[in-house]
Amino acid sequence: MLEIKDLHVSVGDKEILKGLSLTIETGKVHAIMGPNGSGKSTLSYVLSGREGYEVTSGSITYNGEDLLAMKTEERAAKGIFLAMQYPVEIPGVTTMMFLKTALNAQRRARGESELDAMAVLKLVRAKAKSLQVSEDMLKRALNVGFSGGEKKRLETLQMTLFEPKLAILDETDSGLDIDALKLVAEGVNTLRSPERSMLVITHYQRLLDYIVPDKVHVLAWGKMVAEGGKELAHELEAKGYGDLVKERA
Ligand code: ADP
Ligand code: MG
Ligand code: MG
Repeated sequence: MLEIKDLHVSVGDKEILKGLSLTIETGKVHAIMGPNGSGKSTLSYVLSGREGYEVTSGSITYNGEDLLAMKTEERAAKGIFLAMQYPVEIPGVTTMMFLKTALNAQRRARGESELDAMAVLKLVRAKAKSLQVSEDMLKRALNVGFSGGEKKRLETLQMTLFEPKLAILDETDSGLDIDALKLVAEGVNTLRSPERSMLVITHYQRLLDYIVPDKVHVLAWGKMVAEGGKELAHELEAKGYGDLVKERA
């Protein structure tokens, strides 16, 4: 589904990713771990097509196509969904309104018919309950004044509505208490399917107790420095990143 080869990415004149390679097969859940500042969020932004990140060399192939040649909206339409470390707040736009607009934009891009307000409401309500997203949250301005847990639960709801092909979750656990973490993980786990791949980016091993990955990669200083099964996450938790992340010349 996704093949990243020798990717170099700069922001301004600073090189952040320095020859990163990664392959994700369809239906698999991969985790990327790594210390703060190693380039994890940068990778997720490059995949989603955010401006300001310049790919200086390397390639990204998504379902056989050149991902880097696609605009952000096109990537979303083709099923890439990014759940971010810091979700945006939009004063003046209710959460429900946002979900309807975003969902219909997605459907248009996929060549599907738009849903009316009632249909969206029905769909949202059906999924909101299990994620404990309340009616009150749906009526409030998007993310404004939401707690960390509320933002993440809402984002997980958004992800389940969009049914992505490649879901990228960046530090979904940051700022979550254990109950919220479990809810989010459950939401993510229900999305696991043979047709869907996921990239779970996390600084801590904790989330991976609930979303058990097929593969774990360690990113340090802009490159992958280790790869293994789910047990690698536990080893790292016990021993720390240690020698793996010593800066190379
Ligand atoms: P992580 O998510 O692993 O903590 P990031 O991808 O956020 O790492 O950041 C990697 C490095 O790139 C850090 O040194 C960070 O300061 C730098 N960086 C990220 N975004 C920018 C930016 N927009 N401008 C300048 N430096 C940036
Ligand atoms: Mg960081
Ligand atoms: Mg980050």
